[in-house]
Amino acid sequence: MLEIKNLHVKLEEEDKQILKGVNLSIGKGEVHAIMGPNGSGKSTTSYVLAGRDGYVVTEGSIEVEGKDMLDLDPEERAAAGVFLAFQYPVEIPGVGNMTFLRTAVNSQRKARGEEELSAGEFLKEVRIQAKALKIDAEMLKRPVNVGFSGGEKKRNEILQMAMLAPKLCVLDETDSGLDVDAMKLVAEGVNALRDGERSFLVITHYQRLLDHIIPDVVHIMSNGRIIKSGGPELALEVENNGYADLLEEAE
Ligand code: ADP
Ligand code: MG
Ligand code: MG
Repeated sequence: MLEIKNLHVKLEEEDKQILKGVNLSIGKGEVHAIMGPNGSGKSTTSYVLAGRDGYVVTEGSIEVEGKDMLDLDPEERAAAGVFLAFQYPVEIPGVGNMTFLRTAVNSQRKARGEEELSAGEFLKEVRIQAKALKIDAEMLKRPVNVGFSGGEKKRNEILQMAMLAPKLCVLDETDSGLDVDAMKLVAEGVNALRDGERSFLVITHYQRLLDHIIPDVVHIMSNGRIIKSGGPELALEVENNGYADLLEEAE
């Protein structure tokens, strides 16, 4: 599903190398987690994958289902099935949640050369997904994220993810300081979307999240590289011992 090879990335604005040879291969239906100390390049990896401005790939490649992502703009990557979760946590007063979702879904369908969903088709689909995520109809009618609680925002973001039906979901949770309830919501949402085909890259500071989303593979990132990969037990090792031993070992 995802093949990152020898990825080197620097900032556009300054001559600062951030990723220094990342290799990451995620199979269809697999859930991989990336953990690592602050500033190790986890978020940068997700941004570069999604095609965000401000970063320059100086070496290496990113392929999704064999398709080169580096030539594509963010919308084209989304159309190819890459979804960076929680990139739209913004409040949009005056725009109903349903309208926003329908616009997002249909612009993606258009980019894929698929027919747009009619109002009726969309409504049917959104009801199915909302029910699965325990989102009540009232929330769908409100303006996007306006006055939503933290938990409601998370649910809503997962609904966006469900409606866009990506092939590869990238979740960068590190900056959001999730409380336990929000964390469980995210985990439930992810687990509901696991179907043996869809792949996930879950970036997290917290081992706790991985109690709820059991990953197939855990990677430890440090100083712009993945320094160790293993099973879920690797996350527990980090939880118990911190990163110091792993970093030393890698050196
Ligand atoms: P992580 O998500 O693992 O905490 P980041 O990918 O956010 O790490 O950051 C990796 C390094 O790159 C850090 O040293 C950070 O300060 C730096 N960095 C990332 N983006 C920028 C930017 N736009 N401007 C300046 N420094 C940046
Ligand atoms: Mg950080
Ligand atoms: Mg980060």
